[in-house]
Amino acid sequence: MSAGSGAAAVGPRRVPVRLAQPYEVLIGSGLLAEVAPSVSENEVAVITDANVGPLHAAKLAASLSASGKRVEVFTVPPGEASKDAAVWLDLTRSLARAGFSRGAAVLALGGGVVGDLAGFVAASYLRGVALYQLPTSLLAMVDSSVGGKTGLDLPEGKNLLGAIWQPRAVFADVSVLATLPVREFRQGTVELVKHGYLADPELIELFEGGWGPEVGGAALAEAVARSVAVKAAVVAADERETAGARATLNLGHTLGHALEAATGHALTHGDAVGYGLVYAALLGRRRGFEDLLPGFLRLLTWLAPGALPDLGFEDLSPFLQRDKKRSAGAVRFVLLERIGKPVVVGDVSRQEQESAWRELREVVG
Ligand code: NAD
Repeated sequence: MSAGSGAAAVGPRRVPVRLAQPYEVLIGSGLLAEVAPSVSENEVAVITDANVGPLHAAKLAASLSASGKRVEVFTVPPGEASKDAAVWLDLTRSLARAGFSRGAAVLALGGGVVGDLAGFVAASYLRGVALYQLPTSLLAMVDSSVGGKTGLDLPEGKNLLGAIWQPRAVFADVSVLATLPVREFRQGTVELVKHGYLADPELIELFEGGWGPEVGGAALAEAVARSVAVKAAVVAADERETAGARATLNLGHTLGHALEAATGHALTHGDAVGYGLVYAALLGRRRGFEDLLPGFLRLLTWLAPGALPDLGFEDLSPFLQRDKKRSAGAVRFVLLERIGKPVVVGDVSRQEQESAWRELREVVG
């Protein structure tokens, strides 16, 4: 069965997110047509982007209308540039002009960009209205739609303006992955496999057993549900990123962020994190941790990332140092003592970082 055939109903699987206001992530094929009964609000603003809207908004809007709700669809241009204060202002003013009340709900139908943007509209319009996340990219399903982080980019940097605003529910309809460009499917896979290494070896097996959009709805739903369960557990342990548990989700991201910045974002986030995972394995191996290099190299080969930038360590180092500012003091790396046992370390010497960078260039070169 292809991800798009959707005829044989799969699921839905339900993953609880155990916060003060608990909610569920529902995962299955064909869920978009079944969202309406779970939305108690009678005024609904669907926010989507110009790629996703034409493909998937109509059946959602039709089912919401059929259940007697007032529905309006707002469409923004696709891409990171829409996580912008002007786009947010335009949307909130559109909601105001359309007369949406405090009892309205915002439904975020799209990838992580729409989820973050629409989430911040929901968090701020009339000081907060109900939010439902309807992720359509693999990355949004396994990562950004769960945990409540919403926000916008500023000229000074990414995600600098935002709020934690938890959804009432998340509906991950894996049948929509049939229209997701393969390169985006690959990007999301990096976070999915990362969750496996952090806490669920069976996710790694699902990946190693042969992975791609063609594995079908049941396998996709199984993997997405497992990945969401890992993220949900971490978020439940550390909702506002104060206890440190949430920091483990940054496995592969310290070098990843540095590579994205060093290449002016020519290297995509998933590709950069793919290299970052290999780098974390190299740092871990140097400390006598379990050797996870072969698995991460297999992920990198499958990912077929853009080229690693040809930089000496002295050119890369300033971008790693930026992380030091963000985490007040040290450049922090998440390493794995073994699968399922992440540790956040702040004492990786410059020499260790440099040697591992040289090794990375050798193993992927
Ligand atoms: P995205 O939203 O830009 O989606 C990627 C592309 O795929 C876009 O062109 C989109 O239009 C298209 N698309 C999405 N679903 C589709 C579908 N089913 N069919 C056809 N096309 C589809 O990017 P993304 O990778 O989903 O998300 C990246 C964003 O997520 C970044 O802004 C990042 O900061 C954010 N993020 C947020 C969190 C969080 O916790 N809030 C976590 C990770 C990432």
